[in-house]
Amino acid sequence: MPGMTMTEKILAKHSGKSRVSPDENVWVNVDVLMTHDVCGPGTIGVFEQHFGKDARVWDRDKVVIIPDHYIFTKDAMANRNVDVLRQFAKEQNIKYFYDVGTEHYKGVCHIALPEEGHTRPGEVLLGTDSHTCTAGAFGEFATGIGNTDAGFVMGAGKLWLKAPPTIRFVFHGNLPPYLMAKDLILAVIGDIGVDGATYRAMEFDGDGVYALNIEERMTLCNMAIEAGGKNGIIAADQVTCDYVNKRNAGQKPYTVVKSDPGAKFIFEKVYDVTKLEPVIAKPHSPDNRAFVSEVKGTKLDRAYIGSCTGGKITDFRAAAELMNGKSVKIDTFVVPATTEVARGLDAEKVGGKSLREIFLNAGAKIGDASCAACLGGPSDTFGRLNTPISCISTTNRNFPGRMGHKEAKVFLASPLTVAASALAGTIADCRELLV
Ligand code: SF4
Repeated sequence: MPGMTMTEKILAKHSGKSRVSPDENVWVNVDVLMTHDVCGPGTIGVFEQHFGKDARVWDRDKVVIIPDHYIFTKDAMANRNVDVLRQFAKEQNIKYFYDVGTEHYKGVCHIALPEEGHTRPGEVLLGTDSHTCTAGAFGEFATGIGNTDAGFVMGAGKLWLKAPPTIRFVFHGNLPPYLMAKDLILAVIGDIGVDGATYRAMEFDGDGVYALNIEERMTLCNMAIEAGGKNGIIAADQVTCDYVNKRNAGQKPYTVVKSDPGAKFIFEKVYDVTKLEPVIAKPHSPDNRAFVSEVKGTKLDRAYIGSCTGGKITDFRAAAELMNGKSVKIDTFVVPATTEVARGLDAEKVGGKSLREIFLNAGAKIGDASCAACLGGPSDTFGRLNTPISCISTTNRNFPGRMGHKEAKVFLASPLTVAASALAGTIADCRELLV
């Protein structure tokens, strides 16, 4: 009997079986269902249509509702979406609803979930957002689902899922100071393409992965979907458990799951991180890879540091190290992913100055915690590309129109590369500032 991957083991346990094979369909019991303001109203509509107007969600403690996308806008339809969530959370007595305009408001769902203790090793987390795979960094099966599936999960607490076969990516070596997890994942997507892992689990392993902090591991798993991956996953270690134990909502017990030594992988790709260079994804696809050294000097109009991939405190610390005492040459927007990260901008210091002081002194503008311009949004969204300009961004997608104007050009890069480029006004190599 061959061994199982950790993705297969988690799905087997949650379907009451001793094993599942790749491509096998099983009913999977769900630990957490997350939805937000963009897909929540549609999900609720499906739930009410099929389970009835007076139906109750399967477990009020397991449905987590996090408005985060179109929050700070005058757009009536966007505001209405949040009202729908508000009404539903009240009717259903949802325990974890992070409402806008209250002390519970958080910001970007994929960062709010772990911060608020909803991610645990060995669990199944489904969310109505493609970057739900971020939570795989905690050693769990986490994936994005559509409103129809989510409406069903809301009522039934389970979903019919096909177990994905796994591709294993092994990183060796300690990351040089000029590289971040964003460089690693852009290198992977550049190698395998945006369809290179379609309906596959992307398992990340190796001493290079375990040398990363939890936020950087989240960045790796976040972009699994940009290669078509069903989920990204990293087995939990002590770093993971220390983070989870401090925050675990309801102090729920959990089980660390690892791939068996004899587990079968479709293929394995090995990287020596010490040999990589800073990577960028050119418009208009995350797999349109170039090394920064190849596109250095490309003129830019804007820099954007934020989102679930690039709006965590690790991202801002890296950017602030480069920007301290310097001035940006182009419009630069800084958007903390969550309110906790926003507080970190004041608490975290570099060279005796807070990150917020460093960014403001450099001439950057700082927005409120939310998705902001990562997904374009209404025209009054902070940092939105309303004209056909060129922007370098720590976000995770650069399809036409993604950040606003359909003719705008978006280059994806690490916070270090974006910060260096903001200071230069052109695509710049952070290695020149780090010497
Ligand atoms: S920050 Fe961007 S990628 Fe992340 S959840 Fe929000 S819109 Fe999606």
